[in-house]
Amino acid sequence: MSKTIFITGASSGIGKATALFFAAKGWKVIATMRKPEAAADLAENSNITLLPLDVTNPEQMQKTVKRAQELGQIDVVLNNAGYGTVGPLEGTSDVELQQIIQTNFTGVIQLTKAFLPHFRENKGGMFITISSIGGLVAYPFFSLYHATKWAIEGWTESMAFELNQLGLQIKTVQPGPTKTDFVGRSLVVPEHPAYDEFFDNFKKIFFSDEVIGNLAPVETVSEVIYEAATDGKNQLRYLVGEVANDDYKKRLELGAEEFHQNLEKAFFSK
Ligand code: NDP
Repeated sequence: MSKTIFITGASSGIGKATALFFAAKGWKVIATMRKPEAAADLAENSNITLLPLDVTNPEQMQKTVKRAQELGQIDVVLNNAGYGTVGPLEGTSDVELQQIIQTNFTGVIQLTKAFLPHFRENKGGMFITISSIGGLVAYPFFSLYHATKWAIEGWTESMAFELNQLGLQIKTVQPGPTKTDFVGRSLVVPEHPAYDEFFDNFKKIFFSDEVIGNLAPVETVSEVIYEAATDGKNQLRYLVGEVANDDYKKRLELGAEEFHQNLEKAFFSK
């Protein structure tokens, strides 16, 4: 019997590519997104069912989880919806702070909680959250993004103890820079004049043709998500791509202090 994956933020990027990847492998896919009416291409796929979900809307979440479970057993829940903020903290508003925490962090926890009774009843199920290399190391001007992704890492690691006792699993996937709408329409870029000089230096590197041209293809992430869902391993983390693997290795080898000092030199030395 085919398995079923429930995906958040499946309208573009990693979520959409992963919906198509799992559907091509014969899985049933429940692809959720804020505007399912705009996903005609996914709707054409007979293995994909579209449902509405804004992960910051708890009432809609309850309804959508109920509808999804009425369709049959869910085997994997992929918490993918998320976005980045890059810029100085002083340029961000409280509304922006709440929005990124609710999307990248609170929404993940609420969705996990909403699916737990279903998983317990089925005596099986796996949660996978798309974290980021930014959940394991810290770069300049990504403070709010790191706050949410580092939180996901700690939360997941602790959750694994209680879920594994019930025969359930929870994992995170850490992509490096990947070609999606992340650095385009989804990115929030706050500005503040006190930081213009350093932020401009940072942006020159972060948005350079070299960096943008080297973004990894989105399918590389879908492949690793598929591996995490099917490899039968009791493994917490799955890094994706050269940048993520190299940066994490450097952080472990050099230690947190030296890794940080090296980045400071790379971005801000005159
Ligand atoms: P995209 O911008 O292409 O996709 C982001 C998705 O999240 C969109 O479908 C967007 O929906 C959805 N989304 C945003 N807010 C909400 C919300 N409130 N409710 C439901 N869906 C929402 O970027 P990616 O595919 O790259 O991002 C997917 C995940 O991958 C994120 O968690 C991101 O942090 C992570 N990631 C990405 C990396 C990269 O370099 N691309 C690197 C590391 C991690 P809508 O179309 O409605 O805006």
